[in-house]
Amino acid sequence: MDAREAYDELLRRFRERALLLSSKAVLEWDEETHLPPRGVAHRGQQLAQVAGLAHDLLVQPRVADALDVVDASPLVADPRSEAAVNVREWRRLVARHTPLERALVEETARRVSLAQPAWADARDRNDFASFAPHLERVLEVRRLEAQALWPEAPYDALLDEHAPGMTAERLRALFEPLGAALRGLLDRSRGAERRPRLDLLRRRVALAAQRRLAERVARALGYDFDAGGLDESAHPFSAHLGPHDVRITARFDESDWSEGLFGVLHEVGHALYDQGLPPEHFGTPRGDPVSAAVHESQSRLIENGVGRALSTWRWLLPLLRETAPGVFDDVSVEDLWFALCAVVPGPRRVPADELTYNLHVFVRFDLEQALLAGTLPVKELPSAWGDAYARALGVRPATDAEGCLQDGHWGAGIFGYFPTYALGNLFGAQLLAAALRDLGPQDDAFARGDFGPLRGWLAARVYARGHELSADELLVAATGAPLSPDAFVGALRRKYEALYALR
Ligand code: ZN
Repeated sequence: MDAREAYDELLRRFRERALLLSSKAVLEWDEETHLPPRGVAHRGQQLAQVAGLAHDLLVQPRVADALDVVDASPLVADPRSEAAVNVREWRRLVARHTPLERALVEETARRVSLAQPAWADARDRNDFASFAPHLERVLEVRRLEAQALWPEAPYDALLDEHAPGMTAERLRALFEPLGAALRGLLDRSRGAERRPRLDLLRRRVALAAQRRLAERVARALGYDFDAGGLDESAHPFSAHLGPHDVRITARFDESDWSEGLFGVLHEVGHALYDQGLPPEHFGTPRGDPVSAAVHESQSRLIENGVGRALSTWRWLLPLLRETAPGVFDDVSVEDLWFALCAVVPGPRRVPADELTYNLHVFVRFDLEQALLAGTLPVKELPSAWGDAYARALGVRPATDAEGCLQDGHWGAGIFGYFPTYALGNLFGAQLLAAALRDLGPQDDAFARGDFGPLRGWLAARVYARGHELSADELLVAATGAPLSPDAFVGALRRKYEALYALR
């Protein structure tokens, strides 16, 4: 087998695997949006079968042999070439899967598919006890996997799936000073005399009108509805089902019209990334996103960097007035902006303001390490959660539903993902600062609803590059500097000093 033949065979096999995984994504998307309750068990079997097949395609000796042949050839001489990028990431994938038995992969998929509806049900009924045994069973298989991969650092083994190159130690070194800076700014805003008019967010906007507004905003941001669509689900998410098929979901709420809109902004940020990946490289790393952490940077950048910019609301307030005639006639853009960015320490992560959001993440980062290590027994999670919130945010959730049951990640078997939200905030702020430096201020463009220049910048430096670079390399290439919390903290400081008239 010469190197060209070996590479072509790898392309064929990994594209086959990508087709399987995108079929799995359709099954998962359907499970979250339309699957009837009695269909859950069969769906679990389907997902387990596909996960097993996808695993088998990776761990065959022929794959390892072909990788060796290509790796020893001039095809990979240039580390930025398509072949070099693909082989580098294929090797990482194969190394992650080879130590795992197919039986464990299937068992994990089965347990997760049962735990997910159990979690949703437990949250709806505020009944942690009914979810606890599922969480135990999921933790058990994820521990086995982590042990098989990196026995000396099991949490890092799971984290590496979502933020390659990151370790718990590196995260702690980033998060500790960041937490101190955020708490300092939080204390200052608490003492401020200027207060936001939060009642503006509770003014009534009909659900159908909220949806129309969200679609209009999504379109203006560049989301392609001909290569996607907006559905409703209990938890908003985006799903990359294939090239030219990137769906988003939303949840609209009459008690706060802004939550649904910001949920859509977040998912559009994810979807723009997936819609901007090079479709000709679908199914290979050259056409994949870099990591969950970089993905979250794109969602947080759109949600907060764009969606919570004063200039954007100069464009959006008139649209909101059209959407809900008469409801916002007496409202100034400055007052609305203040309400939308207001610091409100609360029990829930998803609608949290930009300042306290990372504090929610840090609570989960600590607790999931303890759960995985077994130092925090599952039955003690609710009380540990309450204590951690009291310490970090000064609030204690009134129920488990708005406490440790609010997020579906752990029930979905996903550990080591939460840090990607905090990393996403840092990456996103650093990328936005670099974009504004390169493009010049975008206030006038945003105020017209023109996000084209920013999207073009992101498309060239992030979307179109696929997984050519690691997250750390991408950040240096796009911004000229390694990862640092400075851009994030600086932007928050400027925003909250202005909003709360802090000195
Ligand atoms: Zn996200």
